[in-house]
Amino acid sequence: MNTFTEPYFQNENAARAKIESVRWPNGPVCGRCGEGARRYATKRPGRFRCGNPACRKDYTVTTGTVMESSHIPLHKWLMAFYLLSASKKGMSSLQLMRSLGVTYKSAWFLSHRVREAMKAGGLAPPMGGEGNIVEADETYHGKRETQVARSRNARKTFTKRGLGGGAQKRIIVSLVERGGSVRSFHVASADRFTLGKIVRENVAKESRLHTDENNIYVEVGKEFVSHETVIHSHKEYVRDDVHVNSAEGFFGLFKRGFNGIYQHCREKHLHRYLAEYDFRYNHRQNLGFNDLARTLSAVKGAEGKRLTYRKANSAIV
Ligand SMILES: [Zn+2]
Repeated sequence: MNTFTEPYFQNENAARAKIESVRWPNGPVCGRCGEGARRYATKRPGRFRCGNPACRKDYTVTTGTVMESSHIPLHKWLMAFYLLSASKKGMSSLQLMRSLGVTYKSAWFLSHRVREAMKAGGLAPPMGGEGNIVEADETYHGKRETQVARSRNARKTFTKRGLGGGAQKRIIVSLVERGGSVRSFHVASADRFTLGKIVRENVAKESRLHTDENNIYVEVGKEFVSHETVIHSHKEYVRDDVHVNSAEGFFGLFKRGFNGIYQHCREKHLHRYLAEYDFRYNHRQNLGFNDLARTLSAVKGAEGKRLTYRKANSAIV
């Protein structure tokens, strides 16, 4: 790949300048207190001393981001951001290790921090809106680590895996705005409470909601301008413009990519892999993002996020 001829993929200072231009278009801002006007230069390149009398801390462009206190040089960070943003299916830690010349452990931790940066913010505006269609659908992928008793609220009729199927598989729910973005969730149970809450919290009420005939969406569906369904059990997949093909398409991308590159992940990490696939889908070519623009969006997303090795590796995230 000759993509990496750019200086910011080659040396630390050029990488730092690139990240500064993305994070600080109007000049340095303290990553601890938000002070943007007052600061002092220090002897170390890229290091500033905050001029806010209540703060006075030193900071760099990585302060308050997933890159803070990392020993990996910044040009390798940019390469990691690029590789995970530009590879259609993602990149394994083993491949990342070889491409960057770092240890496996560093590559693993690096890739999880890049995924954290790719995660959409918690205050994202609702999807859809007047005249827009949002599809909601679930899929089953990979075995659960702990087997569960079948929930009384779990779907009792038709599932993609037969009657009450998927109970021992991991459940993924995705909301896809037709022609727009996706939000995916790893849930413990596909019941009307769990899915209702996700739909309610993420989709604007003025939207048209499209699902399959699954009765878990009936209740929450009433809160929307319209709730239209296709009856998959009757082999009905499209009726006029009613379908969940965008969600099915996204699940296909995720499964093909994941199975090809990562094959397997611990259940506790699944949400971060979903964030990675969501991110690439939401910054796809069709929406006007090329590889570099997508990479820099991920770098921008590193702001306000931290992920320690212990936290990345722990079950409580
Ligand atoms: Zn400060």
